[in-house]
Amino acid sequence: MHERSLVRALLEQVRETAAARELPPVREVVLEVGEFCGVDAELLELAFAEMAPGILGEDVKLELRSTPLTVECRRCGHGFAVERFRFVCPLCSGDVTVTGGEEFRLVSLRVAAGPVGEEQACR
Ligand SMILES: [Zn+2]
Repeated sequence: MHERSLVRALLEQVRETAAARELPPVREVVLEVGEFCGVDAELLELAFAEMAPGILGEDVKLELRSTPLTVECRRCGHGFAVERFRFVCPLCSGDVTVTGGEEFRLVSLRVAAGPVGEEQACR
């Protein structure tokens, strides 16, 4: 399953980042996932719930941020969000290039630091 290998790589990345920076235990992983990157959010969450305890420890949450599919017209430069997979510029009918929505990216980690917890960017 595609999602499982993505999650495994993500968790390893988080563990290495946390170790390299000597961070307190990670409580939450914030992940940006593009609408167009072909990842099933439900499968992603399942895989995370299954693998996170073994790699990062118990009680680590996953926050998914979905990013819309955006494109830019190659002819007139108009940028817009694609709806219903209509990959044509509404202004000039030109071809478009995908500029967003293909992300699969670690955005930040929240770690246990003090009573409230502090957000810590991972890079
Ligand atoms: Zn155009």
